[in-house]
Amino acid sequence: MRNDIERVLIDEDVIQRRVEVVAKQFQQDCIDNDVHKITVIILLKGALVFGADFIRHLDMKLRIDTIHASSYNGGKESSGEVKLDHFPDVLNRDILLIDDILDTGLTIKAVRKKLSEGGAASITTCVLLDKRVSDSRCDITCFDIPNEFVVGYGLDFEGHYRNLPYVGVLKSDAAMEKLRQDELTD
Ligand code: 5GP
Ligand code: MG
Repeated sequence: MRNDIERVLIDEDVIQRRVEVVAKQFQQDCIDNDVHKITVIILLKGALVFGADFIRHLDMKLRIDTIHASSYNGGKESSGEVKLDHFPDVLNRDILLIDDILDTGLTIKAVRKKLSEGGAASITTCVLLDKRVSDSRCDITCFDIPNEFVVGYGLDFEGHYRNLPYVGVLKSDAAMEKLRQDELTD
């Protein structure tokens, strides 16, 4: 799989250190705001890896829920329409909403709206990556990145590469096609 990556954007150890710092800061903010129990909502599938690492730095009572959100349909561009499945009961809950990446901002916006309609007591939004494309920002961002299509650490291309421990940029379509051909002839 490393062969398919043009360059690594954020190394594994850099991600791990940053996630720990950000999670501990979030926990301190909860203490300061007298919040002692939260519900973490992880947006599937992209935020699975980030969410799993993030919560293990939190030393507090929490529940986990997941929502399946999709707008990319496996490709490289947002379809502009956000589908949400399995929406949990959030009435009176303090929510930490975790997603992998902020691109157009449509996904977070759609989920945030449904969470407030569902009567959440508070909503904190958190993303690993922000492409700084839209005007909206999340409450917590681990890294700002250039506006490129990235994979790894939960993010996929056509369902693959989620298990890479780092975030990287895929080779161009032409280069990938050449790799495939070479593999076929090997
Ligand atoms: P938004 O709704 O903010 O446009 O997009 C958010 C969703 O699009 C993310 O949760 C993610 O699933 C997908 N996405 C946006 N940019 C990228 C990217 O660079 N790589 C991958 N793999 N997914 C992306
Ligand atoms: Mg997503």
